[in-house]
Parts: sequence; C-alpha cells; structure tokens
Amino acid sequence: MYIDTHTHLYEEQLNIDEREMIQRAIDAGVSKMYMPNCDSTTIDAMMRIAGTWPANCYPMMGLHPCYVKDNYKDELAIVTDWLAKEKFYAIGEIGLDYYWDLTHTAQQKEAFAYQIDLALQYNLPIVIHSRESTQDCIDMVRSKQNGKLNGIFHCFGGTIEEAKQIIDLGFCMGIGGVVTFKKSNLPDVIKEVGLSNIVLETDAPYLAPMPYRGKRNESAYVPLIAEKIGDAMQISKEEIARITTANAEKLFGV
Ligand SMILES: [Zn+2]
Repeated sequence: MYIDTHTHLYEEQLNIDEREMIQRAIDAGVSKMYMPNCDSTTIDAMMRIAGTWPANCYPMMGLHPCYVKDNYKDELAIVTDWLAKEKFYAIGEIGLDYYWDLTHTAQQKEAFAYQIDLALQYNLPIVIHSRESTQDCIDMVRSKQNGKLNGIFHCFGGTIEEAKQIIDLGFCMGIGGVVTFKKSNLPDVIKEVGLSNIVLETDAPYLAPMPYRGKRNESAYVPLIAEKIGDAMQISKEEIARITTANAEKLFGV
C-alpha cells in the first residue's frame, strides 16, 4: 500500500476524468491521497473530493506561498476559520517560493510563521513548499521547533547537507517524479541519508515521473517513484512502499 502525501486532486486538469483517475490510484495500491490547499479559491473543490472519497482523500488547510498577495491577511483569516470548523490532516502547503516572484517575500515569511503557529496550536504536521528557499525554510522551522513540530519538506530537491538538517529537525522529505529524471541527484541523496525520513508524493498534476515526464501527473504513478528509489537502493518497491507508508502514517497520525 502506498500513500501519495501531496496531490492536487482538485486541479482543473484532473477534473476531466476525476472518478477514473482516483480509481486508477486506488487500483495501483495508492489508497491514501493527501491534498494540500492553495488558497480560498481551491477549498470548495478540495472539500468536495474529500467528502466523496472519505476513506481515500484527505484535505489539508493552508495558504500556498505562491498565492501570498496583497490580500494575504484576508486569506489567512479564511484558513484560520476553516481550521476551527473542520478536520484537516495537516497545514499545507505553506512556505517560501523564491523562484516565481520575489515581490511578496516578506509577506510570505509572515504567512509561513503564522501558519506554523496554527499547526502548533492544532497539533498538526506542516507541509512545506521550499522552492529555491530550502535553507530559509529550514531556518524558519528550526526557530519554531519546540519538539512538537513535524512535517514534510515537499518536493525535496536540496543537498545532502540540507537533507541532514531536515532529519535533525525530525522532518520528512517528500520525494516525487523528479527522482526518476536522468540528471537528478536525489537517488544519491537518498542512498546517503537512508529511508527513515522519506515519504512519497506525486505533486499531481505537475512533475510526472518517467516515462510520463512533461505529461499530466496523477496519483496512480506513485509506484514508479518507489521503483526508482528501490533500484537506487537495491531493494524491492514493496519494501519501499512498506517503509514510506509507515513514515507517512506516523507523521499524519493514522
Ligand atoms: Zn503542491
């Protein structure tokens, strides 16, 4: 059994064949899918999917750093309201993005810190988006780590040194389709740090693994990621499934 710890099932590209897509994932052994939120515009679709597949699809709540704009305080108020009235499985996705736009970096940091405090308040894990900002995200987590904070550096693409810092903080790294790309250093990083803090994700509909690179991604492709990690470590994909599923279940408290 696999867990997709990060999949945007509510995205428009996945709506077309939603029922079949989710069934394909379940048939492929990916029986649990965790959905990170983006902003107030994605909540209704996410909650609808969570309500339709309550045993398979689990919602998170949060404001994604790429959606931190001038109205971010209103958006954070909406996040806060939802957390008070519904069950969510993590705060996410939250963090810093230095790749797309640096206009709101200060506001991104404020939103990140505020949402980590919400996670501590609700005793929930956090799912971190750290594009071109891994070290700053690590530093933010370290400044807030009181022994109770846990979570995932989603779509981890950092160095061995950064991976070791993440493990020291008690956090996991989400590994997705990038690990299957030819020039990826991720197989070497994973070989060096081991599997104890690794969870699997697709980040669907983005970043499809080989041989689907460049096409629409979906949660059914998680076993391809496990297979690649297994090849790198000379162990079976079933063993990768067992270890990474246990890591994810521990993290999400199921
Ligand atoms: Zn994402």
